[in-house]
Amino acid sequence: MHIPFVDLQAQYKSNKAEINSAINNVIKNTEFILGKEVEEFEKNFSQFLGVKNCVTLASGTDALIIGMRSLSLPPGSEILIPSNTFIATALAASFNGHKPVFVDADPNDHGINLSDLAKKINSRTRAIVVVHLYGQSDKIGEIDEVIKKSGRTIYLIEDACQAHGAEYKGKKVGTFGIFSTFSFYPSKNLGAYGDGGAICTNNDKLANKLKLLRQYGQRKKYYHDVLGVNSRLDTIQAAVLNVKLPYLEKWNKKRQEIASLYTELIKRSIPQIKTPHIFTERKSIFHLYLIRTKKRNRLQKYLKNDGVTTLIHYPIPLHLQKAYKFLKYKRGDLPVSEKLAQEILSLPIYPELKKNQTHYVVNLLKRFYEKSNPNN
Ligand SMILES: *Cc1c(COP(=O)(O)O)cnc(C)c1O
Repeated sequence: MHIPFVDLQAQYKSNKAEINSAINNVIKNTEFILGKEVEEFEKNFSQFLGVKNCVTLASGTDALIIGMRSLSLPPGSEILIPSNTFIATALAASFNGHKPVFVDADPNDHGINLSDLAKKINSRTRAIVVVHLYGQSDKIGEIDEVIKKSGRTIYLIEDACQAHGAEYKGKKVGTFGIFSTFSFYPSKNLGAYGDGGAICTNNDKLANKLKLLRQYGQRKKYYHDVLGVNSRLDTIQAAVLNVKLPYLEKWNKKRQEIASLYTELIKRSIPQIKTPHIFTERKSIFHLYLIRTKKRNRLQKYLKNDGVTTLIHYPIPLHLQKAYKFLKYKRGDLPVSEKLAQEILSLPIYPELKKNQTHYVVNLLKRFYEKSNPNN
């Protein structure tokens, strides 16, 4: 059996006619830039989240960079960033001339480590980017508490690029921070047919500023109020997203069912593997399903040999990435995220993954541990 990490073709097959007609419509109207589908999607997505404004952009990375730019933070600002995340989270700080300060991971939920967070706050700290990694909300309430206790004014930014529809205490993530960012990269839970991103915010002033920033800083054509960039969601991508958004809840539910099955089967028979912690107050949409094991590399190879593709999210914590060498972090500085990077493995998960495929993956895991020496 061959099981890919994600299967975008399976999803296309399930709504091919609708997608094709939506794309054809855009081509027929030739409104390729900021056409009516873009505005429609912005309305639809902000309604889905329960947030006042959604401003779409060309990618999730741009959403982070331009969102942070819109805050006009002073020079020398420090931005708290989890070391266990995708690099785009940190690039937002770097490309605005700010200093990313990396915070270690929590060994249970792989999100922000609260005690390390408290240590890293100082008078230059201006913002924290909370990442709802793997589709699971981070501990927003606890993080808020730490910030309050510090007595400083620190913006809370949500990187929800993996968390379209995840919830914290019954409320969708992406509605808590000064702004939140989403990515519509094709393999995300809500994916376009190319790059795409969005910033969501309840702050109208910020939303208006973002609409200037994404379009050369122009208020109307050729009248430029501020220095901006060109970063817009293509109308074709918005049309695809409008078709897909109504299915998102159903797809997220499928992922949750697959995750539950993985967890149940693994817990029942493979004590060597740690399954994800489940937090009832934080509804995960399982963008990723991560297991932890001491024999990660060998296990990954074993699965590959039997047709199962797995990935590592992420193999190198940000503070040890070559691109951030100039910040002079050393191995051992953020021990939890370094340990996680050695032990984590993401199993295939996507709405169309069948039960028998899930069983097949777990049976391979079982066989791997039956064969290998129980002492290592
Ligand atoms: C995907 C992702 C991004 C970047 O989004 P792009 O659309 O690929 O630029 C940022 N942060 C996280 C956590 C992501 O998973």
